[in-house]
Amino acid sequence: MLDIDTIYIDGRFVTPHGTELFDLHNPATGAVTGRVRLADEEDARAAIAAAKRAFPAFSRTDKAGRIAMLQRMADAVAERRGDLLDAIIDEYGAPVSRAAFMADHPVNVLREAADLLADYPFVRRMGTAEVSMEPLGVAGLITPWNSDAGFICGKLATAIAAGCTAVIKPSEMSARQTRIVTEALHAAGLAPGLFNIVTGRGDRVGAAISSHADVAKISFTGSTATGKAILRAAVDTLKRVTLELGGKSPTVILDDADLSRAIPLAVSAAFMNSGQACIAGTRLLAPRSRLAEIESLAKAAVETVRAGDPRDPETTVGPMVSRTQWERVQRYIRIGMEEGAVLLAGGEGRPEGQSVGGWFVRPTLFTAVRNDMTIAREEIFGPVLSIIPYGDEEEAVAIANDTIYGLQAYVLSGDTARARRVADRIVAGRVLINSLAHDPKAPFGGFKQSGIGREYGSFGLDAFLEPKTLLGEGV
Ligand code: NAD
Repeated sequence: MLDIDTIYIDGRFVTPHGTELFDLHNPATGAVTGRVRLADEEDARAAIAAAKRAFPAFSRTDKAGRIAMLQRMADAVAERRGDLLDAIIDEYGAPVSRAAFMADHPVNVLREAADLLADYPFVRRMGTAEVSMEPLGVAGLITPWNSDAGFICGKLATAIAAGCTAVIKPSEMSARQTRIVTEALHAAGLAPGLFNIVTGRGDRVGAAISSHADVAKISFTGSTATGKAILRAAVDTLKRVTLELGGKSPTVILDDADLSRAIPLAVSAAFMNSGQACIAGTRLLAPRSRLAEIESLAKAAVETVRAGDPRDPETTVGPMVSRTQWERVQRYIRIGMEEGAVLLAGGEGRPEGQSVGGWFVRPTLFTAVRNDMTIAREEIFGPVLSIIPYGDEEEAVAIANDTIYGLQAYVLSGDTARARRVADRIVAGRVLINSLAHDPKAPFGGFKQSGIGREYGSFGLDAFLEPKTLLGEGV
């Protein structure tokens, strides 16, 4: 049993004022594996005060110093990669192949921020003015469970690159990996107060950070509903807010696609991170002229997806992170059936042979889905893929864009120029053509209710800075 009974404020591990306890589980067995003592509003205020004290000195540090600091942080987190990998598998049930990527990600984003900082122009001439990019102040960084070490390090790296200090509110479900990252960052020897980590409930600690007058900026990743609550809480103090929210990404297969390539790619896009990904391609738009072929190939592909023990290297779909998430996926599968979608693979219940204690679901494929059905409109956050038939390219684009979300889209075609034309018409923050590529130098974020603002690249750094214009004599 792991007992996590401290939080990190002002460069020290301290006992929280909060007394509420939260159980940690292993999703593959359902067993309780540890207990976390949660921070409360008073802890949030202490963390904000520490970050506020640290800001004046830190905001004046130079680029070279911050680059060296980011590299030190990356080295320190890299040293804990093995622990992080174990925690990601045992805490989320992430399959080992995916967990390896997730364990490398925190180090990569820290190094990426150091590279970005090296080239970032903090002072620019615009007309007769000198424009300097000034750090905003204390940043509140609120993160979700579904890749928490990566989100914590990514947001913190950008805040530090900008010269901001930070109060981090991770998900309580990722307390084990948060602890590992905190120990690593502590070992990197950062100034007290520069970053503070208060694991607690969202409606208490998250809400206290989002409304506090001494917090200048919120960077949030999580659900659209929580993003809206944060925006409301932040309005009275006019905080700068970046929101990375949910998605219902379309995968558009055009009628000239090579299906032997397109189907495996579409299934991987849908089931990445066991379907618990904001960028999961959950709506497969299929041309009616090739529907039968696509249905039969997709059914075969989904039926061969290995769902089960996350430590088995062959597994691509592990358990859902929590009982709540398991029940949510079951409910959406039932709704799909009730609303008339046709089940091609999977369905309710657990995959054959999987332990009753674990929160395993069956990789599921529906067809004859209409875009107005609940399973095509709402984020399920599990391995459930819906085939939505379309007539022509015009209709495919209309269906792809008929969603409140706009985070990511996939276009699969044998003709790259044609795919590019379709991609240009899709309203999404990122469109991938015949690929599952990722480039950490490029901005990431959503249109519409998938968010506000961008992370990564220079856009990500801009979001922690405010331009200040100097004019007149001596400029
Ligand atoms: P969530 O919104 O439930 O929680 C996210 C974080 O917000 C947690 O730390 C939570 O404690 C906190 N929180 C909850 N209520 C709060 C409040 N009132 N005020 C302040 N903070 C509060 O999301 P989750 O279930 O942890 O994560 C899954 C969601 O995150 C999905 O919707 C997914 O699409 C989204 N997500 C988006 C991205 C992206 O980059 N766009 C990436 C990953 C996940």
